[in-house]
Amino acid sequence: MNCQACKIRQVEVIEKCDDEIEPYKLCHECHERLLSYSLRPIEWYNLASIHTFNKFLLHDDFYEDDGVATQPEKDVDEAKDLMAPALDSVKDSIESLLDYCIAKWWLEEDMISCLKYHMPHLLLQSIKIRFDCTQNYFIKSRLYEIASKSLGRFCEGWIRERWRMYNGEHIMCLSEAACLCLPFDEGFNLVLNALECIPENELPHVAFSCLYRFRTQSALNWIEIKVKSPVKDSWGRLAAASNPTWDKLNVWLQNGRPYSLVAIDTLINLIPYPGENALRRLTPRPILINPSSIALMSQVLKQYCEKDNVPRVRQAIEKIIMNWDIITGS
Ligand SMILES: [Zn+2]
Repeated sequence: MNCQACKIRQVEVIEKCDDEIEPYKLCHECHERLLSYSLRPIEWYNLASIHTFNKFLLHDDFYEDDGVATQPEKDVDEAKDLMAPALDSVKDSIESLLDYCIAKWWLEEDMISCLKYHMPHLLLQSIKIRFDCTQNYFIKSRLYEIASKSLGRFCEGWIRERWRMYNGEHIMCLSEAACLCLPFDEGFNLVLNALECIPENELPHVAFSCLYRFRTQSALNWIEIKVKSPVKDSWGRLAAASNPTWDKLNVWLQNGRPYSLVAIDTLINLIPYPGENALRRLTPRPILINPSSIALMSQVLKQYCEKDNVPRVRQAIEKIIMNWDIITGS
């Protein structure tokens, strides 16, 4: 068997330090370079396409997304024929393209376009074979992402089958798949059922990650049932993604805490800010639906502030009143 990194010399070392079950299988030279964070780009790429960059020795602390070592302990040979491949050179082969999509830090739009170019049944077949052949958590995650974003409803049978076997793992990937590959009601209800098993302290941020893509006002009704004090910001982020109406937020403000705090967080999260990538990537951009007049909405917020005059509320309301044009998308 050939070394997983250089793919030229024979395997001489089984290195289990990053994964007992699926170890690195390497020649002596590549093993030495792996341990000294000095892999050549193509060697990093070949390993990342089998093990993912999430493994410690391949991590983004030590390598760029193109496999260039950032803090090597030995000199690295970066000759042209040792560079990692470009998308253009792998896009015509399903297997090479899947390797590329697994090795990279992010699954980008140009990669998804190339995946969509292939016959869907052949792509799904390759995805399923890879999925069944590995226990690597991150590979399975990326395969879910690849299937969801490139195949959509075409892979609904597989996604439904994976949900039937759901054991608490991959809830965020499976939620994205439910949103992109299954009929709305079926997908949304599968995710709500799965969220029932999430511990209360983790629920806000897990719920955000699982539900924001659905962009449904049904999520607002669900938040009402689940929200508890102390209110986490993730509830407001989820509500912001879920097409919130002024009528709903007004009811929350009138009902007081914890709902009023979610209403205020929702409005704040409709003002894009650096670092909030999930909401910023949504199209169309999240805005307040069916707003009332700015004068009336400002008056309601000021009245609320008189009843709940703490710095968090006061500062947020000042910011909201200054940004109505952004919040309402006008
Ligand atoms: Zn080697």
